[in-house]
Amino acid sequence: MKSCELFAEAKTLMPGGVSSPVRAIKPYPFYTARAGGSHLTTVDGRNLIDCCMAYGPLILGHAHPHIRSAIENRLADGWLYGTPSPLEPEFAQLITGDHPGMEMVRFVSSGSEATMAAIRLARGFTGKNDIVKIEGGFHGAHDAVLVQAGSGATTMGVPDSAGVLKDLVAHTRQVPYNDAEALETLLATNHDIAALIIEPVLGNIGPVLPDENYLSEIREITKTYGVLLILDEVITGYRLGIGGAQVMFGLRPDLTTLGKIIGGGLPIGAFGGRREIMELVSPAGPVYQAGTFSGNPLSLTAGIATLRWLHDHRSLYLKLAEKTRTIEESIGDYGTGSFVRLGSIFKYFFRASPPKNYREVKECDTEAFGKFWNRMMDREIFLPPSQFETNFLSAAHTEQDCTTIAQAYAQCR
Ligand SMILES: *Cc1c(COP(=O)(O)O)cnc(C)c1O
Repeated sequence: MKSCELFAEAKTLMPGGVSSPVRAIKPYPFYTARAGGSHLTTVDGRNLIDCCMAYGPLILGHAHPHIRSAIENRLADGWLYGTPSPLEPEFAQLITGDHPGMEMVRFVSSGSEATMAAIRLARGFTGKNDIVKIEGGFHGAHDAVLVQAGSGATTMGVPDSAGVLKDLVAHTRQVPYNDAEALETLLATNHDIAALIIEPVLGNIGPVLPDENYLSEIREITKTYGVLLILDEVITGYRLGIGGAQVMFGLRPDLTTLGKIIGGGLPIGAFGGRREIMELVSPAGPVYQAGTFSGNPLSLTAGIATLRWLHDHRSLYLKLAEKTRTIEESIGDYGTGSFVRLGSIFKYFFRASPPKNYREVKECDTEAFGKFWNRMMDREIFLPPSQFETNFLSAAHTEQDCTTIAQAYAQCR
């Protein structure tokens, strides 16, 4: 069946025809038959250069042979035990070893689960009720953080969600990104704040990059007011480098959330932090958290294989940064927009200067982006279908891919 036929059927069976809102490309999404390296092959026979990479997890590219053989080798031993397995301490060693802010870790099955548990844990530890998030920051699709949550929510023009209790969201405060003063003012007047949860680089409306010193300032401010800093590294973890943003920017958060890359393409999440906080997680402590698929051997196997590969091929981060730089430079004169990149994440904003916060991101010309996105598709390049999503490159993108992408950008913007 062709994509349009599959979508017509899916729409009658699944809300909006999709399993996650951002995938509902108009008039209908393409359906992927298979993927390898930097390319997606659609059921309609198109072969697309993928700059979305499943929204972040696939830093090594699709169907990487090393990860694939690790998964295949694991299958013979079964793929779900419901008991501890030796993979857990092995993986925990790797992750705590890479992150200065993670002395202990709990594995879960998605990034949303990780942030949900981290927020509960912060409340349990501090005994306080409110949390602060950043306007336009995205931390998954659970109630406490579905306020001006970027990405799908922003694109759909639904900054909030039906079905979320007002009473609950009343405990979610917001401050603009890159505004340490706004945070300080809030913390000085509200003494019931358990935690600030923040993406170090706004990835779900961006990339929006931190001003110099912004992250170290918010670390100081949260420390001063006894507010926990939850660094949501679901995108940035192993994306900006080994140890993510906390290593890149020299931060020591109280809690960290991970997901995406650490599952090597299989579902995963993790949260971790200071030992005295993590010791409150059940069964060690009173903050309940549990999951049937938590720490499942297949996700951990793919994750371990990915992290070991990244450790053994550290230079790939430099090469990735080199590739996005080449793309930026090949585009040349920007015309009306602005190009933002950090390592392997990049985006062309339809706005004269790079946005610094959510308000500025919303000034982007989404109509121009829509036309641009279609022109890129005509050239067989798949970008995330929203002005509010980051583009991702992988180690599988070749120089030829990057040249093709750069030429297309120059022609289409
Ligand atoms: C993707 C993402 C999440 C949610 O992760 P899921 O695995 O989709 O639940 C949370 N935080 C950030 C920063 C993300 O990019």
